[in-house]
Amino acid sequence: MLELTGLAGGYGQAAVVRPTDLTVRGGEITALIGRNGAGKTTLLRTVFGLADRHAGRVTLDGHDVPPGRPELLARAGATLMPEDRGVFPALTVAENLRLARRRDTEPAVDPYTVFPLLTDRAGQQAGTLSGGQKQQLGIARAILAGRTLIAVDELTQGLQPSVVADVLEALGAIAAAGTAVLLVDQHAGALLDHSRHVVAMEAGRVVLDAPNGPGLRDRLDDILAVR
Ligand code: ATP
Repeated sequence: MLELTGLAGGYGQAAVVRPTDLTVRGGEITALIGRNGAGKTTLLRTVFGLADRHAGRVTLDGHDVPPGRPELLARAGATLMPEDRGVFPALTVAENLRLARRRDTEPAVDPYTVFPLLTDRAGQQAGTLSGGQKQQLGIARAILAGRTLIAVDELTQGLQPSVVADVLEALGAIAAAGTAVLLVDQHAGALLDHSRHVVAMEAGRVVLDAPNGPGLRDRLDDILAVR
């Protein structure tokens, strides 16, 4: 379980994420939705030490992760898949997977079973994969590295709906095995069908934090509507 308490962050002096409380529970998918520029990526980056933490606390499974110690997250099996999918373009698919694999833990699901392309294209340079294929490789790397927490930025960006469905199914299986899964996107879309908990951000603040249920899609549509 990832817990953020009063977490604020940004870039240098620029405050982007205002003090935020958020819990991402193991065993379920949490969707974090918000319009372009709402601060979703910066929130993720602040958690993982890629943006500046201005205030607040991050704990993973009850263990404090102080500012400037993001390696503690990695060591505890937490991983972030960034918008650019975080694959090494010059390495092959197999090499990308080998580098992500942790020796001390078994992945919750076997990524080779979920994504046949990992076997079919094992020797192909990752940089030559299509956007959707890179995404699958990125998710597979996250599955291998993240036993405790997997956070995925811009999950559906550039993906065909059929690939989105496969990826969401895989992430659902991972969550069911106990991992905390945080999926970030500009659109509620298919994410909502797979998420147990939904959070929405606007202008650097959390404006909705609720269990998924009837009426939530309408509330999200309202938050996402261009005003
Ligand atoms: P998107 O869906 O486009 O990724 P987002 O909700 O993830 O949007 P952020 O990328 O976190 O939003 O951006 C939030 C705000 O932070 C924006 O106003 C953006 O201009 C600003 N911002 C983003 N990156 C930087 C940076 N490196 N330096 C300064 N400001 C930044």
